[in-house]
This record gives sequence, structure tokens and C-alpha cells, in this order.
Amino acid sequence: MSSTNEQRLDAALKRFRSHPVISDFREFLLSAPVEELFHIDPTRLARNWNVPRRTVLEVLLRAVRFGILGMEWAFHCPTCGGVAKESLKLAHTHEQDFCPVCKYDFRNTLDENVEVFFSVDPEIQKLPADVKSRYERQIVEDITKGGRHEWQSSGTIKGVEVLNHPVFRDIFGDETLSLDQSLEIRSATVLFSDVTGSTSMYERLGDARAYRLIRDHFDLVFRAIDKHDGVPIKTIGDEVMGVFVDEASAVRAAFDMQDALTSSNDSRGDGESLTLRIGVHRGPVIAVTLNNQIDYFGRTVNIAARTQAVSEPGQLSMGEPFFRAPGVKETLRKRVSQVKRGAVTMKGIDEPIQVYRVTLSQQSGTSTDQ
Ligand SMILES: [Zn+2]
Repeated sequence: MSSTNEQRLDAALKRFRSHPVISDFREFLLSAPVEELFHIDPTRLARNWNVPRRTVLEVLLRAVRFGILGMEWAFHCPTCGGVAKESLKLAHTHEQDFCPVCKYDFRNTLDENVEVFFSVDPEIQKLPADVKSRYERQIVEDITKGGRHEWQSSGTIKGVEVLNHPVFRDIFGDETLSLDQSLEIRSATVLFSDVTGSTSMYERLGDARAYRLIRDHFDLVFRAIDKHDGVPIKTIGDEVMGVFVDEASAVRAAFDMQDALTSSNDSRGDGESLTLRIGVHRGPVIAVTLNNQIDYFGRTVNIAARTQAVSEPGQLSMGEPFFRAPGVKETLRKRVSQVKRGAVTMKGIDEPIQVYRVTLSQQSGTSTDQ
């Protein structure tokens, strides 16, 4: 016998309007064993619903907004794996926490020790108390017997995955870190793009027409970022900063941006030709709140911006470690006509950096932008 508040659930589900997996989601909430409604496994749902994990996360995040699910942030101790702190809001998280078992302070890192849980909201279905206490007992038992609770599995949702989800940024935009706190991300792939020659375009076309071209270019860039599972973090003038899950996705997005812009130049046929310089870099960043939004800062972000600045129009540039990262060379090989390597001194960066400047071969008359 199910104790689901079906009426309330259906009212909340209506707020999704039409979404391809809503009937699957409803079915899951009504018929899954209670254990599966606690700390919901997105990988299993992705498999069952035959959609990407990112789509499942989108549904889970919206379901939190609509009161169907609850979301919790768990901060695991890096040593024993126990949950040193749980928090319902990102705003209540701290850059450091203390593990009472190991008696030690640790720094929170969104792609290492921070986990996000989604469970059914008690207003929709009240889970039996022993579901949570069984989970807590398991942690204690693991640590007592083996010294460590292994919390990571294919179903684990790391904090960084949620923070970099466009829907989280969209609907939990108000859920930022408190102003004096920053969270580390050990490894983020950062992309910068910039339109070249926009200043002279404003002179030639006037503000309104030039701005329309720039705005259209933003659409193309954002679409390419989204298509490759990235998220736009911000625009700075004509520049766009995006973050990706891995290096190869950023390279594919860069290709799509260049191709989409080329085909948009061709189809307009007004003689105006916008080109992009793109730069990418991967490394540690810190997430902070700025202007009421989560923003990323640090040396990695600076180098990505500088790498973009040394690109020629139409090029994509990257440092040595990025060039050698898994999947990058294979991705480049498909489209690249020329790679130039050279040491570049960047403003504000101490040592010269080896930069690979990559020029795309023209894709004859086709666009990868659907
Ligand atoms: Zn510990």
C-alpha cells in the first residue's frame, strides 16, 4: 500500500508542463520501493528512462523547486568518508568543516568531498524513519570496522555536477554561497570566447545593428556550450566564459561555435564577418558569490582568459597539459588543419606558457548547429 499523496504529487507534476519523462517520473514516485526514494540514484533512472543523466538531474532539480523532492548537501570527511555536515542550502555551507571522528578540519572541494542527495519530500510521501537510520548506521559500521565509509558509486552526485547544471543556475540562482565563503573545485575546464573586430563593427553599423549581431552570436555560443554539457558562467562585454565537465567537450563546443558563426556569417550575406578567438584551460578554481551569482575565480580562470587573448581570429588555443589531456588530440585530429606551438608570456603570469594555437579546417557548406 502506497502512502503517497497522489493529489499533491499530480498538482506539482503539472508545473512541469510537458516534459518527455514526466510519466516515467510519476511512475517511479508511485511504485518504487521506499529505499529508492531516499538518495535517488540518477544513473539508474537515466538507464531506465533511456535519457542522459543530465536530463534526470534537470527533472530532479525542478522537482525540488516544485516541492516533490528535497535536496541536501553532504560534506564528507576526506579521511573517514563519514558525513561531517549536512546542509539543506548551499548558502549554509562553509569552506571548512570539522570531522568529529577524525578530530580534524578539512577544506570542502565540490568535485571531491561534497555530495548532493535528492529524496522524496515528506509532504509527498513520508519515508519510514529506519530508511535514514539504516544509512547512518551503515556509515558508523563501515568506519568502525574498516576505518572508512566508501560513499562514491556510479549513482553519486557530486556538488560540482549540480553547481554546473544550467537548471540549478537558472532556478536556484538565489541559492548562492554566503559572501565570505568560497568552495574549491579541484579540476574545472574553463573556456573563454571573444568576438574580434566588434569595436569597428559598432562604428560601421551603428549600435542597434551591431548589438543585434553580437546578441545573435551569444545565442550561438550559449547553444554550443549547452550542447556539450557545459554551462555559461557569465559574459564580460563580448566575451563568454563557460565551464565544461572535461577537455574534449570544451574542444567540441569550440568547434561548434566557430562553425555556427561561419554559417551564420554566410547566411546573412551582408558582408559582415564575425570571428571568435577561443581559449581553454583546466585546473583548480574557487566558486564564490559575486553579484548574486556563483562565479569562478583563480589562476585557471586567468590563464584561460589570457590564452583566449593570444589566439588569432578563428583559432582555439590551449596550454600543453590541456593539449595532452584524454580525448583532446583525437577530437582535434578530426577538424584541425594547423597547430602552431610556441612559448607565450602572459600578463600577470610569472613563467612563459607553451601554447598550442589550433586553426580549424573549413567545414564545407555545412553547419553542426542544428
Ligand atoms: Zn573523519
